[in-house]
Amino acid sequence: MKKLINNPANVVTEALLGMELAHPQLRIDHEKRVIFRTSSPTEKVALISGGGSGHEPLHGGFVGTGMLDAAVAGEIFTSPTPGQVSAAISGTDGGKGALLIIKNYTGDVLNFQMAAELAQSEGIDVNYVVVKDDVAVEDSSFTAGRRGVGLTVLLEKIAGAAAEEGQSLDEVTAVAQKVIEQGRSMGVALTSVTLPAVGKPSFDLPEDEIEMGVGIHGEPGRHRIKMKSAHEIAQDLVDAILTDYDFTHSDAIVMLNGMGATPLVELYIMYGEVARLLAQRGVRVVRNLVGNYITSIDMAGCSLTILKADDELLRLWDAPVATPALTWGHTISTPQTSASAKLAHKVTKDQPAKATAHRDRHETGQGITLSQMRTWIELSAQAMDTHQDQLTELDAAIGDADHGANIARGMSSALNAVDKADPDSFAEIGKVVGMSLVSSVGGASGPLYGTFFLRFGQEIGDVDEVDVPTLAAAFRAGVDGVRSRGKADAGEKTMLDVFMPVADVLEAYNDAQLSDALSAAQQAAFTGRDQTIDMIAKKGRASYLGERSIGHIDPGAASAALLVDALVTAVMEK
Ligand code: ADP
Ligand code: MG
Repeated sequence: MKKLINNPANVVTEALLGMELAHPQLRIDHEKRVIFRTSSPTEKVALISGGGSGHEPLHGGFVGTGMLDAAVAGEIFTSPTPGQVSAAISGTDGGKGALLIIKNYTGDVLNFQMAAELAQSEGIDVNYVVVKDDVAVEDSSFTAGRRGVGLTVLLEKIAGAAAEEGQSLDEVTAVAQKVIEQGRSMGVALTSVTLPAVGKPSFDLPEDEIEMGVGIHGEPGRHRIKMKSAHEIAQDLVDAILTDYDFTHSDAIVMLNGMGATPLVELYIMYGEVARLLAQRGVRVVRNLVGNYITSIDMAGCSLTILKADDELLRLWDAPVATPALTWGHTISTPQTSASAKLAHKVTKDQPAKATAHRDRHETGQGITLSQMRTWIELSAQAMDTHQDQLTELDAAIGDADHGANIARGMSSALNAVDKADPDSFAEIGKVVGMSLVSSVGGASGPLYGTFFLRFGQEIGDVDEVDVPTLAAAFRAGVDGVRSRGKADAGEKTMLDVFMPVADVLEAYNDAQLSDALSAAQQAAFTGRDQTIDMIAKKGRASYLGERSIGHIDPGAASAALLVDALVTAVMEK
């Protein structure tokens, strides 16, 4: 791997430092990794987007006048956490609400939704829209719906103009929805992509083959074909899009986008082909963009996006914009209040002093105590640390090789949070662990495990000891939370294939001794984990692999089994 980097682990951090030096109109919160514009007018709807890094200039390059107010940067190809998104929401809050623009990937949707919920509970008006324009992958049980790709750029421009004009949150949301309904994309890869932290190409693509419909993370497309001419490739892309949506006799905004490693000279050849083909098919291209706008690190290839335009969309498209990656028209000069000044005026909430002394507890030895719950978290943190490499390997096989790091970081930060907060009830320890997982884990698993612990603790509330029926009810509540947040069920090769059998077993052992119930739960957890080997992943990143996901343990199921095992050890071996 040859890359202009210093340390693969610091790629995002160092890129943000450079970006801030390059663009004085941006202000970057380096801790939360949020890119703000320094010139947001106060009285407007805040437009926020973000996602994994590696797609530059998306999203940070589109922060500025007439476009985004803030962009949240995750690790390479990894969703940011709800905590990061929350920082973007509170840092741009001018009282008119915020619209979150989410690309349709499981992790992004979960993390942004969670942040939206948190902000709403604090009284901030937050809407979100999910972009899903990639026609390559059809809606099926093997995908999390269509992927969000190039249309995001056009949407950020158009909704950005609507917000800048002073439209209301609902109006800006409606414009964004219209763009989503009327836009479609499709891409093609000539080469694979190399993540700095991985050091080798994510997939093999023979020298003489290309992959039609590939995703912006190198997810499988529709099919591989022998390399052919620009004219023929353009024809395939145009056909795929026009088959999906009828742009005939419409005005259109067209983007011919480079994936990162394709020279502009080739992009212009492709654009020429596309423009001629569209003219033949009766599509009137009235505006265009040609260049690298949503990339896939160093992938060679391109994508085509077509948006049906009407007077409203064209007017908003033509409105002035001034961002690092997109600039035209006049810059608007408005009285400026920087986000940091706004923040400084925010009243910090007074936290009531916390009582540290625990109430006397009546421990009978028949149930799980609060101190055992703390031990559970400690043993979980240890287990995730010990098995980190193993979990990473499982995720490398069917995902993106980050689960080990995600969950090890998450449980260790949860343990720190517990020790700092010194919670005095099950509800509170669940909340501390849950919130800390939500804000420290960058993947899909963070909000899911976070939800599990939140609901688990909530269900138990404040009792001295947890007996089997209470434990069963708490597990059930946690599992239901994971199911509704992740829209998944048993048999889909996820952590639920461990959690659901455990909840079932605990309910079945309702009248049994705690130790018997726990042993059975432990058994169910390991069996559930191993049963994921033969399953086809239907949720999360692994689902992009379809049948190729068979033959591997699901990483989330493996970590869930470790959690159950740690609980059993914490209670039985005290
Ligand atoms: P990411 O997939 O974002 O990289 P992780 O690697 O940390 O996140 O976690 C992956 C695990 O999360 C999967 O192995 C699976 O068990 C779990 N998971 C993903 N999506 C869902 C979902 N919708 N419902 C339940 N579990 C899920
Ligand atoms: Mg992963």
